Amino acid sequence: MDLGLNGKKALVLGASRGIGKAIALELAREGVEPVLCARQDAALEAAADDIRKETGARVHFKSCDLTLGTDRENLIKSVNEQVGAVDILILNTGGPKPSSAMDTRLEEWEIGFHQLFQMIVHLNQAFVPKMVEKKWGRIICVTSLSVIEPIANLAISNAMRSAVTAMLKTLSDELAPHQITVNCLAPGAIATERLEELMEARISKTAQSKEEYLKHYLAAIPMARMGNPEEFAAMAAFLCSQKASYVTGSTISIDGGKRRSTY
Ligand code: NAD
Repeated sequence: MDLGLNGKKALVLGASRGIGKAIALELAREGVEPVLCARQDAALEAAADDIRKETGARVHFKSCDLTLGTDRENLIKSVNEQVGAVDILILNTGGPKPSSAMDTRLEEWEIGFHQLFQMIVHLNQAFVPKMVEKKWGRIICVTSLSVIEPIANLAISNAMRSAVTAMLKTLSDELAPHQITVNCLAPGAIATERLEELMEARISKTAQSKEEYLKHYLAAIPMARMGNPEEFAAMAAFLCSQKASYVTGSTISIDGGKRRSTY
């Protein structure tokens, strides 16, 4: 299937590893020229090299701490210099600190807001105007199954990602007349370093062995396995494609059937 993406330019956030890197790779396979963003140059350089080797694509990168406004301004300038207008914006970053609603301090809520919400508003405002001029654009936000079912001890994720989803739904209405789509992808359990770290932290607080924990964890997933980042990235690439031009304002869960609600 030709996704019609050859020659498009993408900014992929949180792209040094995990889901973000897999999306950048899949887009590069489709002929997209990506700019990768994460905090550290060395990790970005390694990820860009991997993608170039596998696809032969032109791959750029710019380090940026997405929680910092000044860093984001530098990112916007650099992306404009490197590729000009961005056709595809992949909104993704690291997950927030785990904590319960009561134990999350006010300062931590504020950090969570900057990390997950404010940076999205800032980057949308920077890159959407050129999409509007071109009458074409794709915005995809990596959220979490927590927007559908809150996850215990991930209070910041549960709250901020739900707010992000509502804000992006509003934006999808505003941008639909310009043929720009805005969608969210909600991962269930995708086997990345982040998930591994979360699991190790949870196991360390229980008397369970890793095997016992995994058995219980996978029992809640109808497919009885975790997804891999490539399976996630395939859906992201499709949503970016010309073929997905009538899908907007949606949240699609990629979770092996884990979500319990019908819709
Ligand atoms: P990950 O931690 O493996 O990758 C996150 C990426 O974001 C990395 O490239 C990291 O360097 C970058 N990053 C982190 N903080 C940043 C910052 N301040 N500025 C710039 N870049 C930053 O995570 P992942 O497993 O690939 O997940 C991606 C997102 O999806 C995360 O927000 C995660 O919480 C969420 N999520 C993942 C799963 C899963 O099963 N993997 C499930 C639900 C939600």
